[in-house]
Amino acid sequence: MPERQNPKSQPKKPPRNKRSAETIAHFACAKCRKWWTIGDAPTQKKIWHCPWCGTEQEII
Ligand SMILES: [Zn+2]
Repeated sequence: MPERQNPKSQPKKPPRNKRSAETIAHFACAKCRKWWTIGDAPTQKKIWHCPWCGTEQEII
């Protein structure tokens, strides 16, 4: 018989968890026009490389 919670206990509550928030930045390559996203991208970082074509570009 599989182990179960004590049937006399309170109605089973769902497990508790926390939410987290993330800011997603979308970039579109100036050369190949493909786009990519970075979670919590630092805003002070201005030079990025396109992951598709490798072009370095300044993000304003
Ligand atoms: Zn590109």
